[in-house]
Amino acid sequence: MKVIEHLQNSKDTVISFEILPPQKGKGIESIYNHLDPLMEFKPAFINVTYHRSEYMFKKRKDGTFEKVELRKRPGTVGICAAIMNHYKIDAVPHLICGGFSKEETENALIDLNFLGIDNVLLLRGDAPKNETFFVPEPDGHRYAIELLDQVVNMNHGIYIEDDLIDGLKTNFCIGVAGYPEKHFEAPNIETDLMHLKKKVDHGADYITTQMFFDNKKYLDFVNCCRESGITIPIIPGLKPITTKRQLTVLPHIFHIDIPTDLSKAILSCKNDEEVQQVGKEWMIAQCKELKEANVPALHFYTMGKTRVIHDIVQALV
Ligand SMILES: Cc1cc2nc3c(=O)[nH]c(=O)nc-3n(C[C@H](O)[C@H](O)[C@H](O)COP(=O)(O)OP(=O)(O)OC[C@H]3O[C@@H](n4cnc5c(N)ncnc54)[C@H](O)[C@@H]3O)c2cc1C
Repeated sequence: MKVIEHLQNSKDTVISFEILPPQKGKGIESIYNHLDPLMEFKPAFINVTYHRSEYMFKKRKDGTFEKVELRKRPGTVGICAAIMNHYKIDAVPHLICGGFSKEETENALIDLNFLGIDNVLLLRGDAPKNETFFVPEPDGHRYAIELLDQVVNMNHGIYIEDDLIDGLKTNFCIGVAGYPEKHFEAPNIETDLMHLKKKVDHGADYITTQMFFDNKKYLDFVNCCRESGITIPIIPGLKPITTKRQLTVLPHIFHIDIPTDLSKAILSCKNDEEVQQVGKEWMIAQCKELKEANVPALHFYTMGKTRVIHDIVQALV
């Protein structure tokens, strides 16, 4: 079933999870061990992130360095197929522009279609860790909207090869990203919204947001979207804080603010066990308020924290 159908068919707020592929070298059991305890909440769908390759410098025996390409967390498509097969739950692979040519994207979409996966979350991706700016592949996409156009084209049976006629029309339900606190490269929230509106006008079915810790930011963002004519569901993305270090790491990586009350409470904790408790309580309060505001889903970035996420969702059902 498509994400959009889950949202439309459910009377209550839907629960969904996002997971990361395991580090290379680990098996699918690590995914099942992570997800098994969360299955009692009957998630409507499970997203699996995509991680592009990174370039590293490896020291040779003679002291010189060699540039090597490394993908630390491969397996997004395989994990999605395994989840659908093992749990009979819809999986949503993330697809990114970074590192992909249009042809590789087309082939990945063909694989997904053959596997019966008809949901995708389409993203631009970021620059590799040791580079400052995102650079598209020579024959790749610069913005998520271009990737979206490719998927919409395939949904109409239009493939890259001009002379391929009567191509199978795929049937992908398309999610895109939105940023309640603005995407870090956008000059202002209005311009960011304008680009988001274009993704919607080109065929996105729903939006999933970046994490946020202040519900007002999400609710204001939804209002701004509605005022600019965006009518599709906007799913809040949620992540509990679990370590003191995240007070600086999360704003650095995700370009989001941590409310003063939350940061003060975390700073007064003696250890990360106490931080986890504070993070959980904050997230439960956030979720209760969001449920009351009738959000379409609560989408949890699980990031390997099975127990914490379990406790939060249990407090909501
Ligand atoms: C829910 C969610 C899931 C994610 N999952 C992953 C993942 O699995 N793997 C991963 O690598 N990253 C992931 N990311 C991170 C994402 O790739 C980055 O935030 C990236 O920097 C932007 O992606 P986007 O799809 O929002 O880009 P875009 O929509 O392309 O926007 C990027 C920037 O360009 C601007 N822009 C858009 N279109 C245009 C245009 N035509 N002209 C000029 N400017 C434009 C936008 O305002 C924005 O500032 C995720 C983010 C979210 C919110």
